[in-house]
Amino acid sequence: MDELKSIIRDIPDFPKKGIIFKDITTLLADAKSYQRMIDLISHRYVGQHIDKVVGVEARGFIIGSALAYKLGAGVVLVRKPGKLPSETFSKTYDLEYGTDTLEIHTDAIKPGEKILIADDLLATGGTTAAVVDMVQKMGGEIVECCFMVELEFLDGKKRLPEGKVFSLLQF
Ligand code: IMP
Repeated sequence: MDELKSIIRDIPDFPKKGIIFKDITTLLADAKSYQRMIDLISHRYVGQHIDKVVGVEARGFIIGSALAYKLGAGVVLVRKPGKLPSETFSKTYDLEYGTDTLEIHTDAIKPGEKILIADDLLATGGTTAAVVDMVQKMGGEIVECCFMVELEFLDGKKRLPEGKVFSLLQF
């Protein structure tokens, strides 16, 4: 794990002053590391029934679609407003300054379907909490929320369903 962690680089003052951004593009660009990361996360769910993996725009698509392929599940996109072509549900949630909105197709998840939510990184948990809310309102059953990276000091876990959070790498 330390090897994978060491490939992720810190970018100071991005996207704004005072924030140290974890840049995972270096891990994605390294063939062996990307494959290992997907293998390690997907291994956790092999043998479990998962109907769909929900990926969050944009880096969540890179993790979510690879996991879905490995697990034989469908892929559902959660996107920024105005990007999905059919009828959508939307959810607005609070950020440190202001709000953000995410959308999902109204017919993307059927009641009772087993759902794995995937994103690159868990910070405050606000983004994933919004996705959990939409999935549950549609009747989906959350198997787990999985992340490549978790920033543990922000305690995002506490905003997500108890015992249903997995991260591969922690900082
Ligand atoms: P949260 O809602 O505060 O948990 O933020 C998580 C979302 O913001 C995820 O969709 C991440 O892609 C993105 N994000 C927040 N901080 C970072 C970072 O340091 N590196 C990469 N993505 C980040």
